[in-house]
Order: sequence, then structure tokens, then C-alpha cells
Amino acid sequence: MHMKVGIIGSGIGALASAIELKKIGLDVTVFESNDQIGGKIVEQYLGPFRFDMGPSVFTEPALMQALLKGLDPNAEFAYHQLSESCRYFFNDGQCVTLPVGKDKVIETLHTKFNEDPKKAKKYLDRMERNYQAIYPVFIKISLHRLKHLIGKPLLGALARIFKYGLHQNMHQQNQQFFQNPKVVKIFNRLATYNGSSPFAAPAMLNIISQLEFNEGPAMPIGGMAQITKSAYTLAAQYGVNFHTNERVCSIQHRNGRVVGLHTEKSSYNFDIVVSNMDIHYTYEKLLSHIETPKRLLNQEKSSSAVVFYWGISKQFEQLGVHNIFFAEDYKAEFEAIFESKTLHHDPTIYIHISSKVEAKDAPEGKENWFVMVNAPINIGQDWDTEIQLLRKRIIEKLSIALQTDIEPFIEVEQINEPRLIDARYSGKQGSIYGNASNNKFAAFLRHPNFSKQLKGLYFAGVTVHPGGGIPLAINSAKIVARCVKEDFPKINY
Ligand SMILES: Cc1cc2nc3c(=O)[nH]c(=O)nc-3n(C[C@H](O)[C@H](O)[C@H](O)COP(=O)(O)OP(=O)(O)OC[C@H]3O[C@@H](n4cnc5c(N)ncnc54)[C@H](O)[C@@H]3O)c2cc1C
Repeated sequence: MHMKVGIIGSGIGALASAIELKKIGLDVTVFESNDQIGGKIVEQYLGPFRFDMGPSVFTEPALMQALLKGLDPNAEFAYHQLSESCRYFFNDGQCVTLPVGKDKVIETLHTKFNEDPKKAKKYLDRMERNYQAIYPVFIKISLHRLKHLIGKPLLGALARIFKYGLHQNMHQQNQQFFQNPKVVKIFNRLATYNGSSPFAAPAMLNIISQLEFNEGPAMPIGGMAQITKSAYTLAAQYGVNFHTNERVCSIQHRNGRVVGLHTEKSSYNFDIVVSNMDIHYTYEKLLSHIETPKRLLNQEKSSSAVVFYWGISKQFEQLGVHNIFFAEDYKAEFEAIFESKTLHHDPTIYIHISSKVEAKDAPEGKENWFVMVNAPINIGQDWDTEIQLLRKRIIEKLSIALQTDIEPFIEVEQINEPRLIDARYSGKQGSIYGNASNNKFAAFLRHPNFSKQLKGLYFAGVTVHPGGGIPLAINSAKIVARCVKEDFPKINY
């Protein structure tokens, strides 16, 4: 008899868990409350325009390939490797495209911003080596199991401990290496990749620059939604059961171990449960008679977002796949998001245009704009008024930067915002990544991938260890599978 696994949610963390657990021979069923599989990585058509509704930055595509091949050696995951990471626009009119690859980045920083090439190289080399040392310990394994930790990788990570800038936040370390405030801004921005502030997040997170600048972003052929579509198709083909439109209402447990799930439609027996639901809501809504780990859950939440999906009836040659229009005062913007919990009057605007590489995402001569601004979590702000004001400010700022009144070109529109992120995907107060990493000990303050109270209960996705972003969610699933094997050693995997 195979062990039976119930998975709550169908985000990439859940789909990766389904594949990893199917791979070791378990009987897996996934429950998704929405009608679409994929969590936040889903697509939608607005007239002839295709939009990815959530993530747009995709790094470490090899992880996706390995995930699919783990189930089927012939499985392929096709993607474009982008030659530029992002186009940056500043309020003074300067616009700089950063190419991918260390040497090209160093040259661009020198020619466009007068940065010292030696210092820039030192920074990027350091981040590459820090990444290689940190990744095996902080991302690939559980920080909460001694047997995962003991070994060569830990020694490797400890050997570089003085290179991480443990006493610094991201901004302080970036300022130490770069003299031009615009360059500091470019590197600081990477804190937003897990919903944090560079003025509070530990300098260790500067390793993200290894993925952004040295390796560069990729774009799945067919769009971001292909990530979850491919995982779903393969998992279903190999026998994972999927129930959409079926919300899980509680995790059943007896005598300290998981025994099943109640959904809004039925009850099911399971030996193992993996929750991909936001960890806060897993405790709040699905678990009763269990102590809540308040210290872990009461950390500051990650940021949320307001997104405008605009079908634009014109093409803008100045724009690439990823574009940033920076706020003048970046620090004030993060203070607004995390302290006063408001939208900044001069927001940093991110525009993603997949039709630049996937022509069929928009009709000829047109573009699909995903226009995103980082936002505070929902604490009951007057979002309807705030969003209308934000829309006006975005249009004004983009119209100046692009020297074109863009409003008449907005052909179709849809909006996503913190209240909807909470309602659609159960992201607590609209937070995108669970806890923010605005703390020196952030890595240690994420919830483990397993329950210390209930045998058979595991957690995957961006709200638990190792943290925010698609690659990390895939890693969370790998850790879950490893823990399951350790916890149930008598099963013939
Ligand atoms: C606007 C936006 C932009 C983003 N940009 C990026 C980016 O560029 N790059 C990046 O890496 N990440 C980005 N992210 C974050 C990204 O969404 C995550 O990295 C990743 O997709 C989250 O995956 P996950 O496995 O944690 O689960 P989610 O995608 O959060 O999925 C959880 C699923 O669980 C379901 N669920 C919850 N409760 C229940 C229940 N009780 N019963 C049944 N089902 C339930 C939900 O409906 C949801 O489908 C972005 C997110 C947003 C919203």
C-alpha cells in the first residue's frame, strides 16, 4: 500500500512537492480552491492580450528542467535566456540597459555611471562566491534539521562568513562598493525580489545579484504560466490527482499525527499533508488544538503589490522585457511601504512586457504591459481612492519618461491589488512572500518545512523556508521530500 499524500494549494511549491513525492512512489492528491491550477503563476486573456498575472522574473531555469526530468527523463522545459536583465529609467531622463554577464555589466556601470571597474568586479565576484557558499546551506537544505546541516557545505559557508557583511544591510554594503546613487539603487532593488526593504534586509541577500546580473533572467517559451502548466501536465500524466474548486477547511489530526483533510466538499484520509497555503493562514484557518509559533509568524510581513494589466495599442521601442522607472527618493518609498503603510507619491514603477519576446501575447503593433508598484499590506486603507490616484501618477510619470501621453493607448485594463491577492490566493493581508526579510536573522525566522507538533505535516511555498521566489519554492519542495523520507524510513520508496 502506498502512503497517501494530500497537498493544500497548487502554487509552484505545491506542484513541485507533488512531483517530488510522486517520484518517490507516494500516492498524491492536490486540492486547489480556485478553478485554475498554478497559484499565482497563472495567465489570463484580456481580449487579444495574454497576461501572466503574477511572477514575471524567472531565474534558475535549470531547476525547473531538473524538476520535470525527475519524473520523466524526456521532459523538456523550453525558455528564452534574455540578453539584458532590465532597462532602468531615472527621473532626470537617463535610461540605461543592463546587459547580462559580469564583464558586460562592469563595462556598462563604468561607461554609464562612472563606476570603478575594479570595485564593480570585486563586488560581483564576491556575490558569485557568496552565492556558491550560501546556496547549499541556506536554500537547499533545512536549517531546522541537524543532519541536513552537518557536513562540507556548512564548513564552506562558514569559511566565508566575513565576506557576507553580517553587520550591514543591503544598502550599506552596496554603498560601500558603488559611488553613484543610481547604481546603489539598481542593486538595492533586488530586495524587492522577496518583498523586503534594502534598508533593513541583511547584506547576505545581495547574492541575488548573481542571478540577476551574472546569470540573467529567463522567459519560458509560452510565458510564465508555462512553469505551472508544464508541472501540472506532467504530474497529472504520472498519476497525481487534482481537485480544483475544492477549498481545504481543516487539517485533521489525532494523537500527534496527521490523519486527513476536510474540504468544503468531502473528507479524505491521508498519511501525509503538505500545505502550500500561506503559513499564517494554515495555522489560523486549518489547524485547531495546535500551538501557533507566534514568534515566527508575528514578523513583519513582506510587501504586497498593485498591478495594472494594460493592453497597449502601440509599441514602445525604448522598452524591453523588464523595465524600471525609479522613484527619486527610494528610501522614502520603502518607509511608505513598511512604516506608514501607504503608496509613495513618486513610486518606482516596474513594467514587464512579455510580447517583446512572445509576439503572440499581443496583436501586431501592440504590447501587453504588466505595470507593477510595490505596495504595503492591506490594513484597511482606502484602496479604491489610493489606486485611482496611483493610476494617475503612473500615467503622468510614464508619459514624461516615454515622451508620449500613454493614456489614450490603454486599450484594455485589469487591476490586481492587496485585497485581491489575499482573497484569491490566501496571501495574508495581501503579502506576497509571507514574512519580509527585514531583519538580520530573517533566514532563521521563517517557518520550517515540517511541523514540530504533528507527524506527517509539511509546508512548501514562498511563505516558509527557504523563502520568496520561484526557485526557492521549488527548493522548499525538495526539502519536504527529503524530510518525508527521513521521517518515514520504513516505507519502500
Ligand atoms: C504580482 C506578483 C508578482 C510576483 N512576481 C514574482 C517574480 O517576478 N518572481 C518570483 O519568483 N516570484 C514572484 N511573485 C511571487 C510568486 O507568486 C511566488 O514566487 C510563487 O508563485 C508562489 O508560489 P507558492 O508555491 O508559494 O504558492 P502560491 O502561488 O501562493 O499558491 C498557493 C495556492 O494555494 C491555494 N490555496 C490557499 N489556501 C487553500 C485552501 N485552504 N485550500 C485549497 N487551496 C488553497 C491558493 O488558491 C493558491 O493557488 C509574485 C507574486 C505576485 C502576486
